[in-house]
Amino acid sequence: MIRMKLAVIGTGYVGLVSGVCFSDLGNDVTCVDHAAGKIHMLQQGEVPIYEPGLKELIKKSTDAGRLRFTTDLAAAVRNADVVILAVGTPSLPNGEANLSYIMEAAREIAGAMNGFKVIATKSTVPVGTNEKLESLIRQHSSHSFAIASVPEFLREGSAIRDTMNPDRIVIGTESQQARELLTALHQPLTDRILLTDVRSAEMIKYASNAFLATKISFINEIANICEKVGADVTRVAEGMGYDKRIGSSFLKAGIGYGGSCFPKDTEALIQIAGHVDYDFKLLKSVVEVNRDQRFNVIRKLETILGDLSGTTIAIWGLAFKPETDDVRDAPAYEIMASLIERGAKIKAYDPVAADNFQSNLKHSRISYCLSAQEAALGADALCVLTEWREFQLIPLAAIQTWLKKPNLIDGRNIYSEEELAGTEFVYYSVGRPNMS
Ligand code: NAD
Repeated sequence: MIRMKLAVIGTGYVGLVSGVCFSDLGNDVTCVDHAAGKIHMLQQGEVPIYEPGLKELIKKSTDAGRLRFTTDLAAAVRNADVVILAVGTPSLPNGEANLSYIMEAAREIAGAMNGFKVIATKSTVPVGTNEKLESLIRQHSSHSFAIASVPEFLREGSAIRDTMNPDRIVIGTESQQARELLTALHQPLTDRILLTDVRSAEMIKYASNAFLATKISFINEIANICEKVGADVTRVAEGMGYDKRIGSSFLKAGIGYGGSCFPKDTEALIQIAGHVDYDFKLLKSVVEVNRDQRFNVIRKLETILGDLSGTTIAIWGLAFKPETDDVRDAPAYEIMASLIERGAKIKAYDPVAADNFQSNLKHSRISYCLSAQEAALGADALCVLTEWREFQLIPLAAIQTWLKKPNLIDGRNIYSEEELAGTEFVYYSVGRPNMS
């Protein structure tokens, strides 16, 4: 039995996963994107992004006839009861969210309306944006509709699990009809559905990401102090995390956050605050700490090797985190650019993200390798920038034989003291005094 008819506009990390999961729950879903190449791939059963489990789930739903892909937004909207907006809202150069994609999609939706629709925004948008969408659609359509803000909280790498088992669903709308329809749509996922006004829902998304980013920058600063005072940040974080008021997640010290959400959403919230004459000092510091944290890798390399000019540095991990091919705002960009600036050669490897990364950063002194071993062979030092499981499974003894010099900068604390015992590594990790 078909539950609801959905059109999902924007078939990226959020739209594709949401569309696939909703179709798995028995809804009839049309995923729309204006990128014809992406849609063509999906129609052929290929998946344009790397996300564990996604390909299998797409096949299951397309085989069952509940999921299809198209560039024809108008037809998809006409056939739908609920239209989900999941287009990108990337940063403008000044840090504000670029709303041109969502406004464009809203205009197209307005032109296609043929009766009452609920239009639910999953894209992360500044407070007040849904009201702007509403007036824009009203200007271009005489049909009735209801707007809702339904922010998305999934994490790349575990996107299907997160979508199917969310901690909460937030539905912000002034419309009773939208509230009922969207509650019914999300009820199979969780009972924890928070109904709010539109502006609060929009703010919940930014406040949540800003808070998580704050936890990361906080533990990174604690790690930096730990290195100086002789404490071990992993034990400190463990001891803090047992306190239920604090919680253990997002307390892993490392080289800082990256990705398509935290950097842009923190910058956007600083701008949102600025527009109402509020100086969000705490969040500005969070961003600054994060920007600097990645350069600890360079500082530690220089401590070991001195001048980096003429050295060969192996880089393991280009994605901003494991289990994704997303390289947006990955710390590896600035680290590698800084190595190039210092005259080093780079041999880089990532299990799935190298192609995406390479299309943004090419240089005669960077070679992209096909295996972890190839990248490490003959290098003066190895830097681990992403904690892919694949790297953790490689014995340190093997890595030592591949490198020209046994120098290891572990930006994600993936190796233990026991594993290092008996090796000759000069080893630096993050916030662990015996290993920093
Ligand atoms: P994405 O860049 O992967 O996908 C966006 C898609 O929208 C692209 O495929 C693009 O071609 C398409 N698009 C843009 N304009 C269009 C239009 N007018 N018509 C049809 N298609 C159009 O972005 P994403 O990572 O999926 O993020 C989408 C939104 O969700 C953003 O606002 C983001 O902040 C938010 N979000 C992302 C994540 C995440 O982990 N990626 C998590 C939570 C929220």
